[in-house]
Amino acid sequence: MSNLTKYIFVTGGVASSLGKGIISASLAKLLQARGYSVAIQKMDPYINIDPDTLNPYEHGECYVTDDGTVTDLDIGHYERFLNIPTSKLNIVTTGKIYSTVIKKERQGDYLGKTVQVIPHVTDEIKERIQYLAKGNKYDIVITEIGGTVGDIESLPYIEAIRQMKWEHPVDCLVIQLTLIPYLSAIGELKTKPTQHAVRQMLQLGVQPDILCCRTEHNLDFSLRHKIAQFCNISPNAVIEAMDASTIYEVPILLHKEKLDNVVLEKLCLSEKSTLDLTKWNKFLKNYSHPAFEINIGLVGKYVELHDAYKSITEALIHGGTTNLCRVSIHWIHSEEISEQNVSKILSPLDGIIVAPGFGSRGIDGKIIAIKYARENKLPFLGICLGMQCAVIEFARNVIGWKDADSSEMSEETSHPVISVMEEQKEMLGKGGTMRLGQFNCELIPDSTIYKVYQQNIIQERHRHRYEFNNSYLSDFKNNGMEITGINPETGLVEVVEIKNHPWFIGVQYHPELKSTVENPHPLFTGFVKAILENTETPHA
Ligand code: GLN
Repeated sequence: MSNLTKYIFVTGGVASSLGKGIISASLAKLLQARGYSVAIQKMDPYINIDPDTLNPYEHGECYVTDDGTVTDLDIGHYERFLNIPTSKLNIVTTGKIYSTVIKKERQGDYLGKTVQVIPHVTDEIKERIQYLAKGNKYDIVITEIGGTVGDIESLPYIEAIRQMKWEHPVDCLVIQLTLIPYLSAIGELKTKPTQHAVRQMLQLGVQPDILCCRTEHNLDFSLRHKIAQFCNISPNAVIEAMDASTIYEVPILLHKEKLDNVVLEKLCLSEKSTLDLTKWNKFLKNYSHPAFEINIGLVGKYVELHDAYKSITEALIHGGTTNLCRVSIHWIHSEEISEQNVSKILSPLDGIIVAPGFGSRGIDGKIIAIKYARENKLPFLGICLGMQCAVIEFARNVIGWKDADSSEMSEETSHPVISVMEEQKEMLGKGGTMRLGQFNCELIPDSTIYKVYQQNIIQERHRHRYEFNNSYLSDFKNNGMEITGINPETGLVEVVEIKNHPWFIGVQYHPELKSTVENPHPLFTGFVKAILENTETPHA
């Protein structure tokens, strides 16, 4: 174990979805703003290797890192808060742990031994936690354990924490996130669920050092004292985690509760520098005092579950705030769009984004929406499948190939304008086999996309199996669709545009994955800016 790195574990009790990811990212931000180098890591106890094959209804968005690792959406929060890229080291799943242990067993690494959860699985978990600290790259590693304490799947993780805490008591700290429910019938906050959650941790041999209590109402002194007493915790380590109006306010709320001070004190770390949240606070000020407001339609097929589009909604917040603009998102179910109602649905909006996705459900509605945006000069951004749909729409309605399609949707089409990539044809398995991660893209000078980035070569992240079919390149160009971004190594089309339109851009990559609070993505900033220029006095 690196003798310089400190380890913070964030676990959850009582219920899931209390926001461990946001609490972890917020604490990391505070420690980073005090001059410490911090990494965050998520341990997801499910048995999938990664969420790549999971339905968004199960798990929300799949987030992709530069190195092509498919991860949980919390990793997106870590990048958005810390403004540093993550990699395969930041995400661990039970699937990854077990496949490594089983591989080692087959190689004979444990020769002569019976391979067991303790010590082999727990050792592997501990190794992954400490891997991030190799070379003393980070002062602090925060490890968030997915799920809630007591889940069968999370037991080996809690055991690994217990062992690390026992081995290095001064270097390890456990923060448990719990719920303090408010019973409106009697008008009281209840501490019992929190007491039970801590008791469950104690049964597993781990005493939490700090409790972050999710609550809708302030915790008064006597309630804090009661929680502290029943849970063996110092009263100043009972931290109120109030519902916030935006996730970006959470670091500020936690700082007011002195969470960062308590953490440093318990880890015997001195104040490295005074807290500097200048950029963060400026963002929050602009966010809460917008000068303008615009309405953007997000057309997708998972719109009932906003988490499926987490990075897009956050990137719109970043891009909007840069323009002092509040972006109101209108969630539009692509299956509900028809030729008859499209004008009624889209005409009140200032722009639309057609979302990424897989499979044929909802495709017709996306194509109808894009036709409307193209013909009515409504600003349009198509992301991944959204870009592919823009190509299909153009082929059908401008070039006149009525059955043009993606071979993902129709194998029989006589014009597969989007088709499966050559290297993908040999891929048999589904998980982790798409074109994943960061690739170069060369932008054509004088294009709208070039004006947005002001750069010749950009790097963006991908997650797709199908692509623009280059055998139709000249047909598209001759009919007015411009190809303005190309991968210089492979010739794959990355960006399409239409001229004589205020803003019509489709990108094969996922720009939303690289937008952060301190570095808003130029494509979202540019999209909002173009809308503001295109719309009359949209004051907030
Ligand atoms: N289904 C499309 C493909 O595989 C688009 C994927 C996406 O939108 N992420 O190419």
